[in-house]
Amino acid sequence: MNSKLKLLQGDITKIQVDAIVNAANSSLLGGGGVDGAIHRAGGPEILAECYKIRQRQGGCPTGEAVITTAGNLPATYVIHTVGPVWQGGDKNEAELLGDCYRNSLQLAVDKDIRTIAFPNISTGIYGYPKAEACRIAITTTVDFLSAHQTIEAVTFVCFDEENFNLYKKALADL
Ligand code: ADP
Repeated sequence: MNSKLKLLQGDITKIQVDAIVNAANSSLLGGGGVDGAIHRAGGPEILAECYKIRQRQGGCPTGEAVITTAGNLPATYVIHTVGPVWQGGDKNEAELLGDCYRNSLQLAVDKDIRTIAFPNISTGIYGYPKAEACRIAITTTVDFLSAHQTIEAVTFVCFDEENFNLYKKALADL
């Protein structure tokens, strides 16, 4: 099962998988970091679908996930999930970060998505400590995959060297 876990360093907008995950904010209207990169590279179709979701359900709460087209990106879908802002660790951040991975993966299963790529949710502007976020991402994904067989590959796409090295070690230790 762990052979389903892959690691890459680079820009998630370039990855050709069924779905890439966006570390969005609850407005779903775009932002900085990976969110900005996805909307810039994917074009206006993604934001147009985000607007429709906002009209329907008023944004996306922390820990939850919604799905749109990937517009001009090589991926087919973008799954937008909202990571927790790090507030010191006693505001349920760990559970909420785990929810981001669980709910994104569940949405993938529901849509029969087989290959999915995650950025390092919450570890940029939202300030989540990287080592702890890496541990949660991997353990949550391993647990999910052991219960759901349809997903064929989960790629962790690390933008920065520090995250890449943390994931490399954590995956080697599995
Ligand atoms: P958050 O608000 O959830 O912290 P950020 O976008 O600020 O979201 O950061 C999340 C992670 O995404 C960070 O580790 C950041 O380095 C990374 N990142 C930024 N741009 C890209 C990109 N184009 N592809 C993949 N990861 C990216």
